[in-house]
Amino acid sequence: MRDQIAAGNWKMNTTISEGVALAKGLVDNGKTTADKMIVCVPFTHLAKISDVLSSQLTVFLAAQNLASEASGAYTGEVSAAMLKEAGVQYVLVGHSERRTLYAEDASILRKKIALAQDAGLKVIFCLGEPLEVREAGTQNAVVQQQLEDGIYHLSAEDVSKLIIAYEPIWAIGTGKTASPEQAQDMHAYIRSSLETKYGSQIANAMSILYGGSVKPANSKEIFSQPDVDGGLVGGASLKLDSFVAIANSF
Ligand code: PEP
Repeated sequence: MRDQIAAGNWKMNTTISEGVALAKGLVDNGKTTADKMIVCVPFTHLAKISDVLSSQLTVFLAAQNLASEASGAYTGEVSAAMLKEAGVQYVLVGHSERRTLYAEDASILRKKIALAQDAGLKVIFCLGEPLEVREAGTQNAVVQQQLEDGIYHLSAEDVSKLIIAYEPIWAIGTGKTASPEQAQDMHAYIRSSLETKYGSQIANAMSILYGGSVKPANSKEIFSQPDVDGGLVGGASLKLDSFVAIANSF
């Protein structure tokens, strides 16, 4: 059985005290119907929220980014080793905002994945097509290319440690959600691509999350699709009640 996951990407939102309160709220709420909740929090919040999340196995800690170099003269960057020591367990790589706003191309993403995995961090690898690609109907080919460029150089063992997040760019922060059928079609496509490359055992064991305007009103229907193993949630993860409702949608 695959892990059913509700991951919240807080992006550049919340102060440290607001973030700590939100994390405490999730812990105090206790177990949901998700196997795991993951909170992807700003760098400044990591160490404090790590303390909040210690000694429990319901809510896990993620960073939203990591440096593409191991250490040295890279002003403003945060390394995999720093994240590990701060108590981080997961890290996002390839979020569309990093790809588009910070020009992170596949060669950078591959370096980040290697550094994260070497440090023992689990990578949530994000991919997804822009609106013009969806309108042209070529989304499968574009996502296939993102898989080939981003992760298909990995060994079977390393690829099996990833969580994949399919996030169509046209649905992120827009209020426009992929229909459950659109999500299912793409998740099934991604899983079949993983199967072709790595075999069915690995493909069937990997969690594939959907991201893009997930909210309590649509999470149940999306998560009930057979190849959708949960969500990567932006805006709706910032409010305790709405994220808990989403995490209870399995
Ligand atoms: C995201 O940031 O990964 C995301 C899916 O955002 P939103 O839920 O706000 O669309």
